Amino acid sequence: MSYTTTLSDQYYHKAVTLMPGGVNSPVRACTNVNATPLCIAKGQGSHIVDLDGNDYIDFVLSWGPMILGHNEAHVHQALLEQLALGTSFGAPTPLEVALAERMIACVPGLERVRMVNSGTEATMSCLRLARAATKRSKLIKLIGCYHGHADPFLAKAGSGLATLAIPGTPGVPDAVVQDTLLAPYNDLPAVADLFAQYGSSIACILVEPVACNMGLVLPDPTYLAGLQRLAKEAGALLLFDEVITGFRLALGGAQEYFGITPDLATFGKIIGGGLPVGAFGGRKDLMDLIAPEGPVYQAGTLSGNPLAMAAGLATITELQNRDYQALAHKTAAFAKELHNILAQKGVPIQIPTIASMFGIFFCENTIRNFSDVQKADPALFATFYKQMRSQGIYLAPSPYETAMVSFAHTEEDMAKTLDAAAKVRFA
Ligand SMILES: *Cc1c(COP(=O)(O)O)cnc(C)c1O
Repeated sequence: MSYTTTLSDQYYHKAVTLMPGGVNSPVRACTNVNATPLCIAKGQGSHIVDLDGNDYIDFVLSWGPMILGHNEAHVHQALLEQLALGTSFGAPTPLEVALAERMIACVPGLERVRMVNSGTEATMSCLRLARAATKRSKLIKLIGCYHGHADPFLAKAGSGLATLAIPGTPGVPDAVVQDTLLAPYNDLPAVADLFAQYGSSIACILVEPVACNMGLVLPDPTYLAGLQRLAKEAGALLLFDEVITGFRLALGGAQEYFGITPDLATFGKIIGGGLPVGAFGGRKDLMDLIAPEGPVYQAGTLSGNPLAMAAGLATITELQNRDYQALAHKTAAFAKELHNILAQKGVPIQIPTIASMFGIFFCENTIRNFSDVQKADPALFATFYKQMRSQGIYLAPSPYETAMVSFAHTEEDMAKTLDAAAKVRFA
């Protein structure tokens, strides 16, 4: 097969005349790998097909939601049924109650939940709640973790290791990130230093329990428990951003996987089954502060949207029948083989993996934080990405993303992907 992308290219050239960079979310533009984006026509199971009719094994999975694969039969049917009943009422429906009940049953620390429309909305609202509950304003964010694009999270490190933040993008006033404190991932002493300095004004620590937005970075065995201890000692809250890890590491997310229950957590991606959804929740006494039960304002015209609730409920219902262990084993075996294949080519390579996720770092050093990630070779990644794509393997177009495996990926898919990797030439 030739994998020409004439129609995708044509579409992209039109799109750039209409939308900034031709896309609705920056990483899709493939600028990190010096490629043009594919325009996707359809997806089924572990495969997607572009406008030119090229078929790809998909390791992006819409950045995480499609853990059952594309167009999964139960989700499809649930959407059809709701479609016949109407798409939005802005009023209570049985589906939102059913999804809330299901999530609360699955996730250890979830006693109450509020549905929103994206992960960004979830983290933004959760931070507001944490600040209101503690009557404190500062938050600790870990460098390299992503929590959506709300202003307080778009901070980058100033100077020093444990440090005050400066805005990470134009348009964010200094004042908005003044209360964002930064520490490197997997560095408990840096967090302890922040508490020593600012303890009584720190509302919360917000962390991706597994960092999935700087490539894949696993927490050290004592890291999450350490964060919990430091937060507790200082009267601050621990917030897990489970937008990726929720229903991905396990049904109960990172809370179940690591046996650590945060005070509050955010969700998105999988709980929408491919429709736009987010949620946040946790301890009842904290969630009771949310309006109209309490004084903390939070609202949304389309929140609890029936189509999104139907897709999410069908996804979680189906996930309850699936074998997470088996998927983790499949992913681990694949990651090990991929590592061997690439190492034999003489390129420096690290392939961390957990549950149904793996990372691809072209470097020698083990990866524990963002500065380790930055040592990886972007040119080797771009070469790998492009040659994999032209052989029908669709990876995220950036070394700062995590590859996802779904329950729909077959042994044949995994073998084909390894065959393609074996053919990549780095010279
Ligand atoms: C994707 C993501 C978000 C943002 O979710 P959106 O739905 O894109 O707004 C927040 N946190 C984490 C960990 C994510 O991976």
